[in-house]
Amino acid sequence: MKCSQHDSFSEGQLTQYGNIELNASAGVLNYGQGLFEGLKAYRKINGGGLALFRPEENARRMQMGAERMCMPSPTVDQFLHAVKHTVLANKRWVPPPGKGSLYVRPLLLGSGPVLGLAPATEYLFLVYAAPVGNYFKEGLAPINLIIEEDTCRATPGGTGGVKTITNYAPVLKAQQEAKKKGFTDVLFLDSVNKIYLEEASSSNIFLVKNNLILTPKTGGTILEGITRASIIEIAGDLGHQVEERPVSVDDLVDADEVFCTGTAVVVAPVSSITYKDRRYSYNCGEHAVSRRLYKSLIAIQLGHVQDKKGWTIQIG
Ligand code: PMP
Repeated sequence: MKCSQHDSFSEGQLTQYGNIELNASAGVLNYGQGLFEGLKAYRKINGGGLALFRPEENARRMQMGAERMCMPSPTVDQFLHAVKHTVLANKRWVPPPGKGSLYVRPLLLGSGPVLGLAPATEYLFLVYAAPVGNYFKEGLAPINLIIEEDTCRATPGGTGGVKTITNYAPVLKAQQEAKKKGFTDVLFLDSVNKIYLEEASSSNIFLVKNNLILTPKTGGTILEGITRASIIEIAGDLGHQVEERPVSVDDLVDADEVFCTGTAVVVAPVSSITYKDRRYSYNCGEHAVSRRLYKSLIAIQLGHVQDKKGWTIQIG
């Protein structure tokens, strides 16, 4: 779908996956005017058909990001229509229940030419999809994180709270170095005090202390994960006390469990976090809380339990 800066998007069309043509001075190439989303289509158990998980939340998050990045955005209906039709056209690629999902990637780009710093004159909204298995090669097996001290992912007043493409290349170096040292991913700290946990490179973080579940308050520097919001609600339903508040590195000392959440990772138990010269280990109770939350979320997504929250949208 295309539109000019002050217009709305016209109806799009399905095309074969492949290259797209962009002007050399397109806003996205020169000034990073681009946003993306990530969501999954699942095949439900017992022939229950295809479903999307909370896609309207992705549509709304794209709208918020577009506002921040001076871009027009598709309406929620246009977003849902494009996602749905992309999934239906790729139906045969959706893995069987429990074997993975179809990852759907909506993209909003400043496609029109712009030389001086200004919003692009034209925009492109497109959606592509690819089948995926587990995000981390260990699957639901616990992951190891290292706290990054030199690189910050986001600063107050910046764009950490929106899913702009420009948030991601700057974390690649820290992520690569962590992987070289044998860690699965990097955990970022706040850029002001450098003691508060923010998030991993593409997932949100939670700590478990007895019945209490803590997660950093988002406040503009952390992406408001849709899985994060879902897990907060499920944890409350399961009787946990959930607090969104600043979570410092000191909170790592007496946590029983730690886990990350995201569309790609779903819920990933964390087995250790390395910070300066210390390594905090979290194998207590074999990550019972993380596993229970994972199972509860997957049960809704795959249709093992009735979706009382209306989070899954049946599309075929
Ligand atoms: N933080 C960042 C930086 C991310 O890229 C993602 C993935 N979208 C998340 C958190 C988790 O968000 P969600 O649960 O909506 O996938």
